[in-house]
Amino acid sequence: MNFHIMTLFPDMVETVLSESVIGRARQAGFISVKEYDIRDHANNKHNKVDDSPYGGGKGMLMAAPPICECHAEVLSNIPDDHSRLTVYMSPKGRILDQTTAERLSAYDDLIILCGHYEGIDERAIEEVVDEQISVGDYVLTGGELPACILVDCVSRLIPGVLADSVCYEDESIASGLLEYPQYTRPYEYRGRTVPDVLLSGHHENVAKWRAEQSYLLTEKYRPDLLEKYKNGEK
Ligand code: SAM
Repeated sequence: MNFHIMTLFPDMVETVLSESVIGRARQAGFISVKEYDIRDHANNKHNKVDDSPYGGGKGMLMAAPPICECHAEVLSNIPDDHSRLTVYMSPKGRILDQTTAERLSAYDDLIILCGHYEGIDERAIEEVVDEQISVGDYVLTGGELPACILVDCVSRLIPGVLADSVCYEDESIASGLLEYPQYTRPYEYRGRTVPDVLLSGHHENVAKWRAEQSYLLTEKYRPDLLEKYKNGEK
């Protein structure tokens, strides 16, 4: 899968997405990430990409022309037969969840637009954006961190990025419930020991204990998820 990130701060995105699992997945060729600097399309001698909003108000808005021209550059790098979607990271969007991540993971190419300052001219959204996605009901200074979150959670679903797909099928949210508690060595730490069933070697009992713990944790911390789970939704 190919991610194309349109941003005024390409280094910010590159730094985050070069590390750890995602960095290794890029090196191994399971995913690709390319940043596009919207400022390269400023078309004026001061490289200005923002301006004050019509009608007054505080702050600056990112102008439509550099965004649309940058988007055209991205499209010129995507083969015609690839499926693609352009997403604008925005607090006005639908809140990102695992179901959305799964849906987006089916595209060949995901184009992600990061806003900054007071946001972007509405006409750029109308021209190039298919869908707006928020990472939560709070406002950040820019779309770069949300874009990294989106790339991370979608990439984990791409075959090869994680060593074993079981890694994510069992996890919190992906299964519909929160994950059961996990333990590793040492057996005893500060007087707290590992539950005996996990040392029993009895796979059925371990599975039963984990299922019960998942249910209880979800009931305690995320009753909203449990309701959906019981209704057969995810
Ligand atoms: N004035 C805009 C509004 O009220 O909708 C907010 C602009 S915000 C300060 C600047 C940029 O940060 C946005 O264009 C968007 O790309 C990004 N951003 C802020 N909060 C976000 C969130 N919760 N989810 C995704 N992107 C967000």
